[in-house]
Amino acid sequence: MEKKINCVKAWFKRPLGVVFFNAIIALFTLVAYHKPLLDYVADNVEGSGVVIILSFALLILVFDFMFAMLFVRLMRMVGRVIIALSLVANAAALYFVNSYEVLLTRDVMGNLFNTRVSEASGFLSVDMFIYIVLLGILPALYVLCRKVEYGSWGSLAKSVGGSLLGIVLLAVVNINNVLWIDRNATKIGALIMPWSYIANTARHFHKQRMLNREEIRLPDAVFSSEEPSLMVLIIGESARSANFSLYGYERETNPLLKNDSVKIYTARASATSTTQAVKAILDHKRVKELYEILPNYMYRNGVDVVWRTANWGEPPLHIEKYRNVPRLRELYPDADGRYDGILVEGLREEIEMSTACKTLIIIHTSTSHGPTYNKKYPVEFERFAPVCNTVEMAKADRAELINAYDNTILYTDYLIHSVIEVLRGVDDRKCAMIYVSDHGESLGEGGVYMHGMVSASMAPKEQIEIPFIVWNGSDRELKELSEVGHYHTFHSVMDFLDMRSDFYNEEYSIFCAAACQSSQQSDL
Ligand SMILES: [Zn+2]
Repeated sequence: MEKKINCVKAWFKRPLGVVFFNAIIALFTLVAYHKPLLDYVADNVEGSGVVIILSFALLILVFDFMFAMLFVRLMRMVGRVIIALSLVANAAALYFVNSYEVLLTRDVMGNLFNTRVSEASGFLSVDMFIYIVLLGILPALYVLCRKVEYGSWGSLAKSVGGSLLGIVLLAVVNINNVLWIDRNATKIGALIMPWSYIANTARHFHKQRMLNREEIRLPDAVFSSEEPSLMVLIIGESARSANFSLYGYERETNPLLKNDSVKIYTARASATSTTQAVKAILDHKRVKELYEILPNYMYRNGVDVVWRTANWGEPPLHIEKYRNVPRLRELYPDADGRYDGILVEGLREEIEMSTACKTLIIIHTSTSHGPTYNKKYPVEFERFAPVCNTVEMAKADRAELINAYDNTILYTDYLIHSVIEVLRGVDDRKCAMIYVSDHGESLGEGGVYMHGMVSASMAPKEQIEIPFIVWNGSDRELKELSEVGHYHTFHSVMDFLDMRSDFYNEEYSIFCAAACQSSQQSDL
């Protein structure tokens, strides 16, 4: 017995090569903390999923090995202390994941930081103690106490180089799984230790900073008339003009709008991601900084502003009447909350209730957002069939994919038409409606799908050419313009509501000034 103990002692005292030492850390990290992640992948992957499960296991192994090599070899004991602390934190995180079935997402990390000590103490338990000792403190002691032979710089370079090569190979093998990974990224990211809580803590504080950003105020506005006016701005999602029959598409995707006397403009998006594009639609000019956006500016200047949304990604709003889908469901319990139709529910009453002289209603839709186009419209809008229902677009039948997408445009046609119908019934004020999409969409042209992969200047035209549709119920005339863009929205809304300010740029309004009105008439 004594011999055996001496044998173990001798083994423990013998220096371990740094590569082997870090391989043990990586393997332990994979085995001890990643069962929830591998279970999640196995439960949610389509088909057998052996490749994707193995890939995730290998990826975690390689990543952890590479980082352990860098930490231990470059920082020696400091690096080992950092790894030891991360093991204890991993154990606590795993306890929460297993016991409360929570994912360590950004919002959960945010809640954690907002929890008071008295509430947090309610989480303490014997189980938690066992987790932390067995899966945290004991392995941490091993990492701190084991004698390590740090080896040469060459072995570090080989290890890191080999790891990077392995990561590239795994990425190549999983090229067809990118969409699945993208769709599950939030959950997967919340289960990878220790990256989940580290990255999501950083994301939480970043979000807080973004939310608390002070916006730069624009100069106050004055109203040039007190004529009661109402503008409805509809922000589209991933709608590309090429699939609107109004823009020449051979399929009839706008059967209602074609009879609505709307005016269409050729338009280009200024970004291909929702967040950037929505900011551009609401900004008075191309700016990086956060200036007062359209709804906030209007509200501060006395306009009655309503924001109805089934989407997200807009800069912080400072208005009273914010209605997202859960709120709309409360207001209209009989409406079908699964589709964007709920955004126009009760619109007539909303307008009647607004007694302000100037009203702006913004509707932020989500209808054409992929990859599951076929889930974004009610069944009666499935006019183009069959439709694909896979999220793996690259494997989908392209004709079926386009059918599903075209049905979303058909539904959008109905939504815009419904708003126009409501506005036609408003007789106590002048009304207009602008529909503008945030960006377009790739549907397999050149092997590209969806949007947002590259900047607007490099994006394919399918992601940039967007519809800009106007219904004008006033006696103001609309300008003839060869092309418009996102930045036309702010000035056009301002102009329609008879608002003026130093920064107002008449060139960016789609409405004719009195002068242009008469010159356009004389041209005729
Ligand atoms: Zn978008």
